[in-house]
Amino acid sequence: MEIRYCKACLFPETKPDLSFNDKEECSACSSSKNKDFEIDWGQRKLEFEKMHQCNDGEFVVNSVDCDGMINGFDKILYQNVSRLTSKPIVALGGAGMPSHFTEFVQANYKGALATASIYHFTQFTPQEVKKTLMRANIPVRI
Ligand SMILES: [Zn+2]
Repeated sequence: MEIRYCKACLFPETKPDLSFNDKEECSACSSSKNKDFEIDWGQRKLEFEKMHQCNDGEFVVNSVDCDGMINGFDKILYQNVSRLTSKPIVALGGAGMPSHFTEFVQANYKGALATASIYHFTQFTPQEVKKTLMRANIPVRI
């Protein structure tokens, strides 16, 4: 049996509690379109500043636009967040091939990278990504 994937986010139909509409979109994507996306950026800024004032911790920044799309990390988002804080940032969302990791690190990104879709929806393994980073002289644990 062939597994269907959401046309928008690539979730497989085998994911629990997910259904698909006639446009081949999953229920998570179709319900998110019906939400009110009014964001209070002033409030968000205050929350960010409050978190930034904590003595430790890091920011895990997920690019919702890139997450699951496997087209690469959202460099502009992470550059902008880096300008706002000296705390470590974990960049999440978008990697689809090993070169996405090296391009990102070579663009002076200082932090950690978190990924999932590359390992679920491509042929690449974590070991292949690490070897690609090593070949680019980027320190990595094997
Ligand atoms: Zn979806």
